[in-house]
Amino acid sequence: RTVYVNGEYLPENEATISIFDRGFLMADGVYEVTSVLDGKLIDFDGHAVRLERSMSELDMRSPITKEDLLEVHRELVRVNEINEGLIYLQITRGSDGDRDFVFPDPETTAPTIVLFTQNKPGLADSPAAKKGAKIISIEDIRWGRRDIKTVQLLYPSMGKMMAKKAGCDDAWLVEDGFVTEGTSNNAYIVKGNKIITRQLSNDILHGITRAAVLRFAREAQMEVEERSFTIDEAKEADEAFTTSASGFVMPVVEIDGVALGEGVPGTIALRLREIYLDEMRKAAI
Ligand code: PMP
Repeated sequence: RTVYVNGEYLPENEATISIFDRGFLMADGVYEVTSVLDGKLIDFDGHAVRLERSMSELDMRSPITKEDLLEVHRELVRVNEINEGLIYLQITRGSDGDRDFVFPDPETTAPTIVLFTQNKPGLADSPAAKKGAKIISIEDIRWGRRDIKTVQLLYPSMGKMMAKKAGCDDAWLVEDGFVTEGTSNNAYIVKGNKIITRQLSNDILHGITRAAVLRFAREAQMEVEERSFTIDEAKEADEAFTTSASGFVMPVVEIDGVALGEGVPGTIALRLREIYLDEMRKAAI
């Protein structure tokens, strides 16, 4: 694989960063994941805009323009011959050659930027989406700025492991009885024809897929309610699903051992998945 590090395209085993990098020492960095379908980028613009916001919330200066970032994404897709897959992008605050809680001077310390591709044939025509996901619920003990897409992913990663250990696929995070989001996706329930998902705030990541899916749902005259819902309400829902850049729209068929509806992917979730994939393929760049 060819990867991109601080302005250079290199074979992955020749790419290096400092051991003092604050991304490595302190999880002081942000990231984005953009999917690739038919060799084209899905919602590049949405990811670029959120990246800018994440950096600005952390007083980080972008080391690259949006135009150049698009160019790097396209070049990596081209050289690695990605037809379906993901592009991972990470920008950290870099390092001034030592460990210190105080941020280094941005005038003299450049951020570190890394991009690499992940080849994932079958991302769109996914067996997991046909089966639907089994979910466990766990307490949400993450920090209070979940709207910033930082690389602090230890707890979400632990959540995924707890789910695997329980024979399930993923976990939903619950705070004061209310579902915030999934470990790496936004969470939705469906009651009758109504799609319910938590309102935007600092409690959840403002999903790029969420924004697109809610727009398509409204355009298709589906009813959308942005409000908090409890895990108990979710277990009584007719359907549930998650959204993310890598999973698109993923039906949920079971929560904490309770089957939803018939225990198979719901019609609204499947319809939204189809609309999302159709529309985003058309708009891909
Ligand atoms: N919430 C969390 C916690 C996530 O990690 C992600 C995906 N990185 C999402 C939601 C979904 O966001 P997006 O649709 O932009 O991938």
